[in-house]
Amino acid sequence: MADPTRPLPNLRDLDTQAFWLATKEKRLIYQQCADCGAVVFYPRRRCSSCLSANLEWKESAGEGTVYTYSIVRQSYHPFFRSMAPYAVAWIDLDEGPRLVSNVVGIDDHSSVRIGMRVKVRWEEHEALCVPLFEPA
Ligand SMILES: [Zn+2]
Repeated sequence: MADPTRPLPNLRDLDTQAFWLATKEKRLIYQQCADCGAVVFYPRRRCSSCLSANLEWKESAGEGTVYTYSIVRQSYHPFFRSMAPYAVAWIDLDEGPRLVSNVVGIDDHSSVRIGMRVKVRWEEHEALCVPLFEPA
């Protein structure tokens, strides 16, 4: 039986398609409203602050801090069960977006801390890459 694989996003979703296609080039992009300046993440059609449709894509350097996190020790999904225990974290990118990801590249999950500096590490797949984070 093959090893379980990570569930991947649907590349046909028009709101998030540009984000995921950029990950194939290992670029972490986010939206910013050209009218009010609000940073918008996850990708969507309208500004979450002023509802403008005038959103521009910006690129993150891929560095940030852990806003909060949890250690997952049990999962019913075969892939995530095979990863456990693992750290799920909200990452505040330096440019402003906050995204959910995993903190990887650590020997002991108890070393994850709020405020910890992290940088993106790409997990490569055929059509896209998944942005994970490791200590900076
Ligand atoms: Zn706006």
